Amino acid sequence: MSVPDSLTLADPALLRTDGYIDGRWTPPDSGARFGVVDPASGETIAAVADMGAAETVRAVAAAEAALPAWRELTAKQRSAVLRRWYELMVDNTADLGAIVTAEMGKPLAEGRGEIAAGAAYVEWFAEEAKRAYGETIPSHDPAMRLMVIKQPVGVVAAITPWNFPFATIARKAAPALAAGCTVVAKPAEDTPLSALALAELAERAGVPAGVFNVVTASEPAAVGAALTSSPVVRKISFTGSTEVGKLLMQQAARTVKKVALELGGNAPLIVFDDADLDAAVNHAIVSKFRNGGQTCVCANRILVQAGVYEEFVDRFCAASAALRVGPGTSEGTDIGPLINAAAMAKVRRLVGAAVTGGATVRMGGEAHRLGGTFYDTTVLTDVTDEMDIAAEEVFGPVASIFRFDTTGEAVAAANDTPYGLAAYFFTRDLARAFRVGEALDYGMVAVNSGLLMTEVAPFGGVKESGIGREGARAGLEEFLETKYLAIGGI
Ligand code: NAP
Repeated sequence: MSVPDSLTLADPALLRTDGYIDGRWTPPDSGARFGVVDPASGETIAAVADMGAAETVRAVAAAEAALPAWRELTAKQRSAVLRRWYELMVDNTADLGAIVTAEMGKPLAEGRGEIAAGAAYVEWFAEEAKRAYGETIPSHDPAMRLMVIKQPVGVVAAITPWNFPFATIARKAAPALAAGCTVVAKPAEDTPLSALALAELAERAGVPAGVFNVVTASEPAAVGAALTSSPVVRKISFTGSTEVGKLLMQQAARTVKKVALELGGNAPLIVFDDADLDAAVNHAIVSKFRNGGQTCVCANRILVQAGVYEEFVDRFCAASAALRVGPGTSEGTDIGPLINAAAMAKVRRLVGAAVTGGATVRMGGEAHRLGGTFYDTTVLTDVTDEMDIAAEEVFGPVASIFRFDTTGEAVAAANDTPYGLAAYFFTRDLARAFRVGEALDYGMVAVNSGLLMTEVAPFGGVKESGIGREGARAGLEEFLETKYLAIGGI
């Protein structure tokens, strides 16, 4: 298959289409391949190895075989390998960003931004590898000494979604490798190319064979079952939908694996009467429309207090109207296409039901004239809690605006969801900043900001948004076991 012009890379070797098992580029046993489609053009840009249970079992065996030598390196040695991996990511940002845009659709600037964000996790965990400290405990017995040491959990399975095809893998692989674990990664069917480019760079960085493996597949259930049923795999680190997360958690229970789940959200963004409205509008735009509205931390419900409701809506609509929808490769594009036809159908269903239920379309509300999976930048007002769009992640460029009167009402509405990933609010009142920040049932709360992801802080949710944290010290802990050593006869 010829590579389309939109994906002409300075280093064409970054575009891989076979799986990566035990340090070898591996074609599928069956010979079958699945197409990777550029959502902007509808064009098939690569034919990738369609692997199944057998290849997954071999990848797990490779990761198991590689574990002892990788674990026994000093933290400083592992750190040096990760540092090289990070530098290669930085050096190849333009190509890696182009791959993300080609397979996922986001604007090129966001694609490059995703590489920078993913690489930052690798850099941070390369540093943190050296700080997997244990502790000593004052003994209960004069003839004994008590210590706690930290050890890698073992072989890790990393299953990731399509919306951040590069960064979600980097965020799992970096702390796992830093801790001394080995990894089998299963990227999303829609976006396997970024994961394979990561494997190519891992090899160049000197990651030993078997330490980082990538299994690509169009039928994820078989791969998932092979990973979750293997007694060798000691941890499942998953990012994706709550539905699949629950399934993997059930499957992992049979062999009592550790699980880390980064799942769906239904983020509220609350604008109080006393907010700096310029800041609130600007941050709400970024939070809502980044990645075309396809992030787990996107503002899914914008709650605005009655006193500033009309002014906020007017300003938000004006700012939304300035956003340009188009292919991610076109200069000036702010919002790319949705990932696929199923995503388009979901957005249409939720907007249609909201309008039928009484929501007002302030702008957009339809498929974009570019066709395919492009959707208009859309603002809905008079949205109510009873509508499906208030309960489900819309995962598209659709802003739903709600009105509220009191702080208590806003906090209750914000918490009235099974999800608990990210929440945002805007106020100038310091006391309210603390009170509301503490009252929101979310793993992450941003005050006067619409962005909160960074490698130096713990990212993750509560309730049905997940278990565990990525980034920061907590992110390394996820891949470490605590071992208590009791030393007697002293
Ligand atoms: P998804 O359908 O749950 O897929 C995620 C991954 O799981 C993909 O690799 C998918 O493979 C795989 N998968 C699906 N069924 C499986 C099974 N039975 N066994 C093993 N693996 C299976 O989610 P998505 O639609 O790709 O991603 C969007 C969701 O991810 C949203 O809910 C979003 O909020 C969430 N998300 C959360 C975070 C976070 O940090 N909390 C970050 C990003 C996204 P296929 O691609 O082949 O189906």
